[in-house]
Amino acid sequence: MHDVVIVGAGPVGLFLACELGLAGCSVLVLEREPEPRSPWKADPLGMRGLSATSVEAFYRRGMLHPLLKASGVNDYPDADEPAPPRGVGHFAGMMLDPAKVDVASLPFRLPSPAMEGVMTTLEAVETVLYERASMLGVEVRRGVTVSAVAQDDETVVAQAGEHEYAARWLVGCDGGRSTVRGLAGFDFVGTEPQFTGYTMLATITDPEKLRPGFNLTPTGMYLRTPAQGYVGMLDFDGGAFDRSKRPGREHLQTVLRRVSGTDVTLSDVQLASSFTDRAMQTTTYRQGRVLLAGDAAHIHSPLGAQGLNLGLGDAVNLGWKLAATVHGHAPDGLVDTYTRERRPIGAWVLDWTRAQAAVMRPDPHAQAIQGVVRDLLGTRDGTTYVFDRTSGSSIRYDLGSEHPLVGRNAPDLRLEDGTRLGDLMQDGRGVVLDFSIGRCLHDSAMSWEGRMRYAAGPAMNDLGVGAVLVRPDGIVAWAGDRDPDREAFERVAGHWFGSPAI
Ligand SMILES: Cc1cc2nc3c(=O)[nH]c(=O)nc-3n(C[C@H](O)[C@H](O)[C@H](O)COP(=O)(O)OP(=O)(O)OC[C@H]3O[C@@H](n4cnc5c(N)ncnc54)[C@H](O)[C@@H]3O)c2cc1C
Repeated sequence: MHDVVIVGAGPVGLFLACELGLAGCSVLVLEREPEPRSPWKADPLGMRGLSATSVEAFYRRGMLHPLLKASGVNDYPDADEPAPPRGVGHFAGMMLDPAKVDVASLPFRLPSPAMEGVMTTLEAVETVLYERASMLGVEVRRGVTVSAVAQDDETVVAQAGEHEYAARWLVGCDGGRSTVRGLAGFDFVGTEPQFTGYTMLATITDPEKLRPGFNLTPTGMYLRTPAQGYVGMLDFDGGAFDRSKRPGREHLQTVLRRVSGTDVTLSDVQLASSFTDRAMQTTTYRQGRVLLAGDAAHIHSPLGAQGLNLGLGDAVNLGWKLAATVHGHAPDGLVDTYTRERRPIGAWVLDWTRAQAAVMRPDPHAQAIQGVVRDLLGTRDGTTYVFDRTSGSSIRYDLGSEHPLVGRNAPDLRLEDGTRLGDLMQDGRGVVLDFSIGRCLHDSAMSWEGRMRYAAGPAMNDLGVGAVLVRPDGIVAWAGDRDPDREAFERVAGHWFGSPAI
């Protein structure tokens, strides 16, 4: 009997396993694939863009350097001043200029060792997380395909072949075609696809016929990256390609010729897969003792590089709440705030990808909108808007407070002695930063000592607050003025961390 069984050792399942392991839960991860390695996870097919917010989640758990190392990133900025980001990506295949991001207008941005997004691979992310999970005592069992789930008021049991695995909670992190989602009876709703997308590694006889970068054409879109033989494309066929089949060389060449408007030749295709822009989300992320996170809870096209970031955000949000529930000190309803906070973010990402698909459609109306959007993206405000959205900095949960910092990802506040918020978060507890002259919150914070850490002193830049309470997921739960109100602090602390232990 484990506290939590996680189905799926992808990046989301492993991140969640680390969070639960850090909080002292017993965790078993069941993974269908016997081997962790696959060409689909390695460079170039497994390349993924992590947003600054996702990188920050690694930083806050002491995994920034392992992540950078595994990703082969040697020139990550050692930022002591908020600088313009080095990469902003694209919207609907239209590239953005990072120099146009108006950093000064972004809310509550402070220098931090994790200011930038990172290009990495699924392999790198999973390797770092697997190593950490193992250190934390998490067991990952491979070659185990979960095919049945049953639950009652006390337990949930996953079945794989002859074996049964019992736990108090089960989390389906088993990807876009989630078995757990269907077995536990989640409703999955959304919109049908407009296109079939393809990624492939091929030998191209005449690669000079394909322009580098994203290319929106009158018949679709294709992408040629610096990685030799790597091509992506979108074919607006209404998602008609039968995705149960592996796309063959002839089919891929026909589509590539159509969307590129060239007579380019593929002499060989080593690896290819397809996806669509079907955009679906479960109506809740919890059914009794079964929860979902990552692609299991939401699917959408990869346009805008959001899925992994969204899933990691789910894991960070759920981990501490589920751990507190397992340990029996969670306030009533804590675990349900997971759906309440994360589902709207997922819904927004689905819309962000839908908007891009609509703009990329190869028809005169969409092409007219492309012109308008391109002009807007060429402005400082337009680029800043996209960056604010895709970097995660615009995310704000409604925690019922008017204070503009509450509900947001906490900036990396720093005491004058150099201690950073990120340093204080590594053990997975909440953090109270008290900048007040009389260290007003010391005694109150000590009542929750095992669940939150207290640090006091003058701040290098206090952003106008006298104290903050930061949840273990890095979200500001409360912010006080220069003379912090102890009662207000205690009320909010009790709301998120339960009754005081002392
Ligand atoms: C071409 C492409 C490019 C992308 N680029 C980006 C990007 O740049 N940035 C970004 O944020 N996102 C990107 N994404 C999306 C991102 O890859 C996914 O959102 C992310 O990998 C989802 O992680 P996950 O852990 O939820 O699911 P998965 O990575 O799918 O992991 C699920 C795991 O569950 C296992 N499993 C499944 N069923 C069972 C079962 N019954 N029993 C046991 N185990 C099971 C699977 O074997 C797998 O290991 C891209 C996606 C594609 C297709």
